[in-house]
Amino acid sequence: MSFFSNVLGTIGQTPLIYLKTVSEEVGTQVFAKVEAFNPGHSAKDRIAKYMIELAEQEGRLKPGGTVIEASSGNTGYSLAMVASLKGYKTVITVPSKISKEKLNLLKAMGAMVVICPKEAAADDPESYYSRAVTLSKEIPNSCYLDQNFHPANTEAHYRTTGPEIWGQMGGRMTHFLCASGTGGTISGTSRFLKEMDPKIRIIGIDAYGSVLKKYHETNEFDKDEIYSNTLEGVGKSIIPGNTDFDVIDQYIKVGDRESALMARQLAREEGLLVGYSSGAVAAGLYKIMDAFDPDDRVVLLFSDHGSRYLSKIFDDEWMRNQGFIDSVDDEGSPSSRPEVIDENPSIRQRVLASFRELVSSTNILS
Ligand code: PMP
Repeated sequence: MSFFSNVLGTIGQTPLIYLKTVSEEVGTQVFAKVEAFNPGHSAKDRIAKYMIELAEQEGRLKPGGTVIEASSGNTGYSLAMVASLKGYKTVITVPSKISKEKLNLLKAMGAMVVICPKEAAADDPESYYSRAVTLSKEIPNSCYLDQNFHPANTEAHYRTTGPEIWGQMGGRMTHFLCASGTGGTISGTSRFLKEMDPKIRIIGIDAYGSVLKKYHETNEFDKDEIYSNTLEGVGKSIIPGNTDFDVIDQYIKVGDRESALMARQLAREEGLLVGYSSGAVAAGLYKIMDAFDPDDRVVLLFSDHGSRYLSKIFDDEWMRNQGFIDSVDDEGSPSSRPEVIDENPSIRQRVLASFRELVSSTNILS
């Protein structure tokens, strides 16, 4: 017999997948670490297990206790999965922009969900961050895991995601592109990768409407950078303690529309139904495609599964309402979708040109 004693044993060891079409279009070798293969369908399974087990060891989480977290949905789902197996209750505060799927998934896993206004600034008592802190004071025998600031988040990726990617790449890679939310994934993974090879270039993907890129470049927290967007998991109105700015070489900002279109494209061209932030990472790749040499080895981290966004980016009506597409078959139009890849160099040039157009035109819209 061969079996896992429970679902937690299946966390991690996610596959690295070569992206053939993307590689041809960008002109280098591109691989994706696809975190949707985790049992909770996102990279957050890794930190949920690690943070809960550390809290148990440190006595912060006691039998029959309640786990509390502020989450855009994925961490909450993973925490509820781990907590239910270990006999804990889960309370998750979420911003009102989260997809309906994520909301229902949280409830399906048995979490209690508190929806908070997405516009509320982080220090507003109504924000999903503040509500989590307040609830942790009100609910007896509860533990606020604090994925934005508790180092266990970064450590989980330093111990698992980083070594997995390094092993899967056979110890040879040149770039790592990853969405930056709490910063746990990019910081932990990159810290490990840079220890293995300091020349690996680390590129953080940030959203328009977020403070991270400017903070990285100027050390200034600029409130004027903050505005609401539709991306989930990427883009911040706070500077999370788990973001290690020293291991990140560069940030790229991406927009809602280009990220959504790119996620849809990954499904059609690579057979990968991945989430909105994965589209953001791919959009970031195309923005810097001129920087790559043909023999570079680039790894993208895709954080979660596309099924969480069926009512958003994979819903044509939602896309139209956002102004992201004009009609159902709009993705066939030259500015929003590349043409079929062909070995013919002139067609390849047209493909690249249409991507550049997509990227520059969508910047303005989002
Ligand atoms: N993508 C998605 C879908 C997420 O939920 C998150 C986490 N908020 C991220 C990317 C960013 O990961 P991290 O918090 O580790 O920076």
